[in-house]
Amino acid sequence: MNGRPPGLAPYAARDQASRGRRHPEPPPAHRGEFQRDRDRIIHSTAFRRLEYKTQVFVNHEGDLFRTRLTHSIEVAQIGRSVARALGLNEDLTEAIALAHDLGHTPFGHSGQDALNRCMQPWGGFEHNLQSLRVVDLLEEKYAEFPGLNLTFETREGILKHCAVKQARALGEVGERFLRRGQPSLEAQLANLADEIAYNNHDVDDGLRYGLISVDQLRDIRLFADQYDEVCRRYPDLPQRRRIHETIRRMINHVVVQLIEHSRRLLAEAGVTHIDEVRACDRPLIDYDPETRAQTLELKRFLREHLYNHYRVRRMSRKAVQVVEALFGALTDDTRLLPPQYQDKLAGADAAGRARVVADYVAGMTDRYAIREYRRLFDPLELT
Ligand code: MG
Repeated sequence: MNGRPPGLAPYAARDQASRGRRHPEPPPAHRGEFQRDRDRIIHSTAFRRLEYKTQVFVNHEGDLFRTRLTHSIEVAQIGRSVARALGLNEDLTEAIALAHDLGHTPFGHSGQDALNRCMQPWGGFEHNLQSLRVVDLLEEKYAEFPGLNLTFETREGILKHCAVKQARALGEVGERFLRRGQPSLEAQLANLADEIAYNNHDVDDGLRYGLISVDQLRDIRLFADQYDEVCRRYPDLPQRRRIHETIRRMINHVVVQLIEHSRRLLAEAGVTHIDEVRACDRPLIDYDPETRAQTLELKRFLREHLYNHYRVRRMSRKAVQVVEALFGALTDDTRLLPPQYQDKLAGADAAGRARVVADYVAGMTDRYAIREYRRLFDPLELT
């Protein structure tokens, strides 16, 4: 059995075979290496801030919408279910899922795009790389090392995509982007669990907010198949419950398809070790072509009708204004930064100073960014 813990398939990541941490540490006494990673992520400052960061909506728009925190927990839930079904490492899947959004700016994608534009002269800003920067450098929790000092496997999973130029600068964790390899199956899974979670909760939030309608969604196969079945089985169900039952079934349908197709892919590839997984030229955790086509159809719908809805765009416009104004003022005069950020400026050139400002802005929650904007630009606001 290779010393493999029960339930783990031969191609799963194993604590004992981890490529280790950047700063060597003795093994944990009563938990696994990936459990320790997961625990460190949960205790991080960046993780707590996810509660007040959003993906599509601005955090204070309503109490019922998903935040990045509840999103990350849903990703972890879906990831763990699939991991267990496929014999993958649940702890590693969970650690990657909980950390995958740590580097996001306030205000979702519009905030990230705005900060990326601001940072163009200094190498840009990418939330994926920023998540890695948070766990490698920015968290200040431990006496012996900066960051959280996570295992290679968790860091590999956090780095979902990466340009070749940046991959070179990242060392071991960037290598797969240079040789076009794959990450662990757990990383592949966390990536798809992310997509399954947001596609479905954005349908739920979009309907609740009245930005999209059931009538529109009946043209989308993933939704329509389940909705029609729910209507047939429960003709008298109130609409809100009908929608929830539909979304529950949509998640279940996609998850079951994903498990079954991935099982086929794994059997066909005949992989027996994580290194063989990494050497593959394509992912082995994947949807079948039909489910992929249906997922793409739903994503296109959401892009057109939800993410580009005029009310969402209006919020996004404000988000861009807040991020650009904060970045501009703080790079013009870094003495406006809080003291703990000014301490990081010592010896920094222009690029280094801009990066400190980007780290500060990226770490803000939605409401902190708005408050900071008022403090800096509203003459009547006390600082
Ligand atoms: Mg996500």
